[in-house]
Amino acid sequence: MAILDDLRGQLSRVFHAGAGATTLAVSGTGTSGLEAAVANLAEPGRRALVVVSGYFGDRLAQLLTRYGCEVSRLDVEWGRAVDPEAVRRALAERRADLVAVVHAETSTGVRNPVAEVAAIARGYDALTIVDAVTSLGAMPFDMEGWGVDACFSCSQKGLGAPSGLAPIAFSARAIERRVACRSFYLDLGLLEDYWVRRKYHHTISAPLVYAFAVALQEVEDEGLPARWQRHEHHHLALVEKLQAIGLSLFPAAPDRLWSLNAVRVPSGVDEASVRRRFLEKHAIEIGAGLGPLAGRIWRVGLMGSGSTAASVDRLTQAFADALGH
Ligand SMILES: *Cc1c(COP(=O)(O)O)cnc(C)c1O
Repeated sequence: MAILDDLRGQLSRVFHAGAGATTLAVSGTGTSGLEAAVANLAEPGRRALVVVSGYFGDRLAQLLTRYGCEVSRLDVEWGRAVDPEAVRRALAERRADLVAVVHAETSTGVRNPVAEVAAIARGYDALTIVDAVTSLGAMPFDMEGWGVDACFSCSQKGLGAPSGLAPIAFSARAIERRVACRSFYLDLGLLEDYWVRRKYHHTISAPLVYAFAVALQEVEDEGLPARWQRHEHHHLALVEKLQAIGLSLFPAAPDRLWSLNAVRVPSGVDEASVRRRFLEKHAIEIGAGLGPLAGRIWRVGLMGSGSTAASVDRLTQAFADALGH
């Protein structure tokens, strides 16, 4: 129980949730955090504006639709960040109760400008829901400073723990406006009773709690600014080394994630055979492009304990080998 209390404090600090926010971890992967954010804020009659700039933005739109919201999508070309002014125009045209956006879009390697989007949403009195699954612990995230109302992440990406727990945080405004939750498992009120008042709700996995507490202690020992800097440093090193063997990244430089590198597939290269060679010869799994980017990019993660100079070197060597350099 004491470890759970510590965990709430650690998660609140890593989100920069601020006083008055409620922070805990849902039992499940990042998707359970997504569903918990939506299940406690979405209901029929509420309108949602969803920024869809990739696979996970589309998932946000799907979940909000499933929970009864009237969803309007702001579709953004895959590989680009949303223009905050487009969010302003969309809200001016059609008000929304909720604005949802993915911070680090893992399908494209692009970071969306969450601070700007949240400020605009606040101007229209909408709550902002943010998917911080691939950014938390790897890139700056400031829930309180940016005015984010609900955000969620996972244990296994930037935070470097095993998968199975999903940190989630709600601002005081979000708590005031929460709906009667249709999900029993993801009901914030019941989860709070469990985490804070020790009232039985479900049986959280003790081994996962121990592992997550250790991972979050490592985050605090390293310090968030140093950890962000490490991710930026190794991302930039990878970009430079790939450039030297003729490879470039797909997104524009200012929008790139430090945790997930979207590498352009050179013309004439069979991208699947490169991924197979990575796996068979180098024991490294890299991701394929999804949706409109299938066949056009490889997705290379450098996150948590994997963001190291050794990873950068191994990846560069594997690319040089697979491309016959
Ligand atoms: C990985 C990911 C998710 C889903 O997380 P799981 O732990 O796989 O359920 C959601 N959103 C983004 C942006 C992700 O990268």
